[in-house]
Amino acid sequence: MSPTDVMPDTRCPDSHTLMLLAERLPGLLFQLHRSEDGHLHFPYLVGSGTRLLDVAPEQLAEDATPALQRLDETDYPRMMASIERSVRWQTPIMGKFRLTTQDGQSRWIAVRAQPEQVESGVLWHGMMLDISEQVAEEDRLRQLSDTDPLTGLANRRKLLKRLDEEISLSNRHAIPLSLMMLDLDHFKHINDTWGHLQGDDVLASLARHARDLLREEDLMARLGGEEFALVLPLTPRGNAERLAERLRRHIADHDFGIGPGNVTASIGIAEHRVGDARDVLLERADENLYAAKRGGRNQVISSR
Ligand code: GH3
Ligand code: MG
Ligand code: MG
Repeated sequence: MSPTDVMPDTRCPDSHTLMLLAERLPGLLFQLHRSEDGHLHFPYLVGSGTRLLDVAPEQLAEDATPALQRLDETDYPRMMASIERSVRWQTPIMGKFRLTTQDGQSRWIAVRAQPEQVESGVLWHGMMLDISEQVAEEDRLRQLSDTDPLTGLANRRKLLKRLDEEISLSNRHAIPLSLMMLDLDHFKHINDTWGHLQGDDVLASLARHARDLLREEDLMARLGGEEFALVLPLTPRGNAERLAERLRRHIADHDFGIGPGNVTASIGIAEHRVGDARDVLLERADENLYAAKRGGRNQVISSR
């Protein structure tokens, strides 16, 4: 029997056939051994995936270090902890890590391995699979589900998630955090006068301009329609007010293709108070936004 023989055969395949099959796997099969003193090596390693490691299997049979050194530096401690956990609790190793190949490419590898207690230490029987394409597709889908298609900004979902993370950090370390709500003034009138497509252009171009005024760690999201929110980590109220004022002035002065002065925005700001829930912060920023509308629009209002 050979691996290309498609006739049903219930006999146990010989070791040559098994070897040929393993060589053609889109990954690799391995045994990893850890001796009592912590030394790791791969007594058995087979499959086309061994080429990703670009280290001779004979060398890895003595010492796993050259393969482990290829792990991404943030994934390495995680994988080592996962190995130690498996030793301690005899649970399977399950995880994924990034591996830098010889030509400098980064590949995502999934690993599954079952531990066995042996006299000389622990022996794992497992497999690794290159899942880089799958991870790239997951990233693409996540990006799509977090992004507003018209402006390319984050959407409401992403904003709420990020706000929760920043509130939790602010509560734990008492670091400042501000939230800004921005709504374009009389946008219905802009649509009615210049058309919906021109309105769309204003929204997309506003997003581009605002991003230029923000820091890397700030997050701007489109909540819907012509309403935006900005999460400003490490930003006390005073700094948020100055940024809002710059943004307001920039919008009022800019020509969005319909003549300068025709697009203005009202902005409400709230600084997070330690212990307050996310919805309280959103409500306080919203109240200030509506105070800005009531106050005559094209202005910034903030409060404690
Ligand atoms: P205010 O100053 O009180 O905010 O007045 P406004 O006209 O901006 O507010 P209103 O909420 O009455 O109207 C919002 C308008 O935004 C109505 C809607 O047609 C328009 N709008 C919502 N989403 C979009 C969009 O994706 N594209 C365009 N072009 N217009 C949109
Ligand atoms: Mg509006
Ligand atoms: Mg609105």
